[in-house]
Amino acid sequence: MAVRPILTLEDPRLRKKSIRVKRVDASIQGLIEDMLETMREGDGQGLAAPQIGVLLRVIVAEYVDEDTEDLHQMILVNPEITTREGSWMADEGCLSVPGYWGTVPRAERIAVRAKDRHGKELRFKSDGRMAHILQHEIDHLDGVLYVDYLKSLDDLQKVESATKRRRRRWRTRDGSDDMVEPAEPNGEVVEPSATQATSG
Ligand SMILES: [Zn+2]
Repeated sequence: MAVRPILTLEDPRLRKKSIRVKRVDASIQGLIEDMLETMREGDGQGLAAPQIGVLLRVIVAEYVDEDTEDLHQMILVNPEITTREGSWMADEGCLSVPGYWGTVPRAERIAVRAKDRHGKELRFKSDGRMAHILQHEIDHLDGVLYVDYLKSLDDLQKVESATKRRRRRWRTRDGSDDMVEPAEPNGEVVEPSATQATSG
């Protein structure tokens, strides 16, 4: 396992389309381990292989639910979003765009087809925070960064210092609510904004 350097915005490799993994073998397992370690080191909630310069369709996502303290983790090979439903404006950051965050449109619910880290076929539906992270990471596999959804890079916000940031409470459509954090400094994906979570 090793922490690998993360490519940043200006690196042309972030703009390439990554290729499908043909066989989930030991080299892919090693890549996954490095990605998990690199994501955790950067305090991110997700990472895509091209962010460490490996142009293969592999993503990892991981976060701890602040309320239940449950660990949510997904490791996906060749992921594809087959259905998108609903939309909201999501605050997110990216380990490849350190120090900034922005608000971009995302689907509320997605259906995904992928392989797991053992090569087993998966089909599942996702919503909430995990769906948000997966959309961001899968975009990376096609050379898309969240900043591409902004009208201008001037719409990027500088991350506030940790002491200024406050958890925000937002209410989902089904009435449940969730404690969420705004964009982390290095954060790969963050949270629904209060306005959007309640908009139609
Ligand atoms: Zn990212």
